[in-house]
Amino acid sequence: MRRTFIAGNWKMHKTPAEAVALAKELVSELSGSSHKVLVAPSFTCIQAVGEVVKDTNILLGAQNMATVEEGAHTGETSVLMLKALGVDAVILGHSERRHVYGETDEMVNTKVKLALQHGLEVILCVGEKLEEREAGQAEAVVELQTKEGLKGVSEADLAKVTIAYEPVWAIGTGKTATPQDADDIHKVTRGVVKSLYSDKAAEEMIIQYGGSVKPDNATELMGMENIDGALVGGAALKAELFVPIAQYDK
Ligand code: PEP
Repeated sequence: MRRTFIAGNWKMHKTPAEAVALAKELVSELSGSSHKVLVAPSFTCIQAVGEVVKDTNILLGAQNMATVEEGAHTGETSVLMLKALGVDAVILGHSERRHVYGETDEMVNTKVKLALQHGLEVILCVGEKLEEREAGQAEAVVELQTKEGLKGVSEADLAKVTIAYEPVWAIGTGKTATPQDADDIHKVTRGVVKSLYSDKAAEEMIIQYGGSVKPDNATELMGMENIDGALVGGAALKAELFVPIAQYDK
């Protein structure tokens, strides 16, 4: 039985004071949650939010990290720095990183392996653009991103990987994939994991859906056989929206 995993990506929102206030609300409202819950604040808020969620059931995430451990990489953040701040997991390959900042599958894969090597959990994001969906390429794009993202990852390390299917056209747009469309792609993704690893690995892989998840569509989405949780953007910025999603009862 896969455990539901709800993650909030706060993107480039909130000052440290605002982030701390939200984290405190989540800690008090989600203390009884049976689901795995994570928040990923911006880099400047990780330390402050980390102090709030320390020793609670809420995990601390980061939204990205560099491809190397250290060096002359102005503006980048190292896995070593994330580890030192108590980060549990890192979101990698988010569509904004891929399509706005030009991250390739190769870069994403390098980051995935580096994070795992340092014991961080990884949320590996995959998803097609609107033109790719319209051209009937959604499955092929997700298959390729999954295969490339996981290249060189051992089955033992795979237990620390969550895949997030986020159709790019559904992110921040208010458009959601239908639960059936999303489940179809999740099923394909699970099949890729099976072909690369084993039946067991595929069965155990947590696959989140992301793309305009809200309290009023969460139940239907997460009720689907292959949808095991959500990566939430906009609705993660307000406790009154994130809490009902995180407390979703399957
Ligand atoms: C995201 O950025 O990962 C995301 C899914 O955003 P939103 O929920 O706002 O569509």
